[in-house]
Amino acid sequence: MAAAGRLMRAIRVAEFGKPEVLKFLTDVPVPSPGDHQVLIRVHACGINPVDTYIRAGVYARKPNLPYTPGSDISGTVEEVGKNVAGFKKGDRVFTTSTITGGYAEYTIASEETVYQLPEQLSFRQGAAISVPYFTAYRALFHKAHGKPGEVVLIHGASGGVGIAACQIARAHGFKVFGTAGSPEGLNLVLQNGAHKAFNHRDQDYMEKIQEAAGGEGVNVILEMLSNVNLSNDLKLLTSGGRVVIIGCRGSIEINPRDTMAKESSIIGVSLFSSTKEEWREAAAALYGGMESGWLKPLIGPEYPLEKAAQAHVDIIQNSGATGKMIFVL
Ligand code: NAP
Repeated sequence: MAAAGRLMRAIRVAEFGKPEVLKFLTDVPVPSPGDHQVLIRVHACGINPVDTYIRAGVYARKPNLPYTPGSDISGTVEEVGKNVAGFKKGDRVFTTSTITGGYAEYTIASEETVYQLPEQLSFRQGAAISVPYFTAYRALFHKAHGKPGEVVLIHGASGGVGIAACQIARAHGFKVFGTAGSPEGLNLVLQNGAHKAFNHRDQDYMEKIQEAAGGEGVNVILEMLSNVNLSNDLKLLTSGGRVVIIGCRGSIEINPRDTMAKESSIIGVSLFSSTKEEWREAAAALYGGMESGWLKPLIGPEYPLEKAAQAHVDIIQNSGATGKMIFVL
């Protein structure tokens, strides 16, 4: 049956603000795909911290109101636009972006942001690929220009981006250090590719990392909470080391002198500044990981769509991450 005229469950945001602005509705019209677009029945949707910044209205990119959040969905193709050649009804897919929002039973995505989901990954895992893995890949290769054999510290390795970074770095021949804030998180970091794991709540964990790096320091730091860690990161780096700022929730004082003798770099990353060529390259590398088996998203807490407001509170406030937070529909 064509989508036109059908209603669906979806989250709608009519004003920017606190998590309560995420309204669960049951009478949202199912959208119809344009010529180069795909209509997807959503099975799962990734919950990303950026969804909360956009909802609060504090992010650089603001959607027109009302809107439905969510970019990282997995599901089955329901209908394709008349110029779509790469997909057909029933295909298992995931997306790196949506046009009508992923916190919904159905979503529309432009053909170029839809990817086939390999059989070996579940729909839950499909919703955990896009922002986490593409960000981790971009940070490590496009921004840090990491090389096999280097020591990479994933500072905040137990969440969505961190677990992805552990798997990518291990598969590419890095020496991988990861941090987490709970015993369960530390175990998961080790099981997902880290050679060593450190608890970022321990007072002396920085010294332990320095010791594990043989006193020489680490080459690359992928930083999930730079407003807390950047000053210490600069001290952990080896000569020519790079800190990539992935996450930041405030300001921090650093001494720029800490970058001088070691000629170290602080580099920001923004996934959505990737060029088309960079998306294509990352997708090819990540496909290699799906097919050969090293790319295995780790799913953490699961929520029904009705609990969207609670999920937005939890992703910011809860500590002790255990992988990727998702909605299951
Ligand atoms: P997440 O799943 O909520 O994970 C957050 C991670 O931060 C967990 O591993 C958590 O560890 C860790 N953490 C908590 N306290 C820490 C500390 N003091 N030092 C180091 N790490 C700490 O979030 P995510 O999806 O992985 O995203 C991580 C950050 O990157 C967010 O701020 C997000 O907005 C940002 N991000 C940026 C981009 C970009 O393009 N720049 C793209 C994606 C994500 P425990 O819970 O175990 O303590």
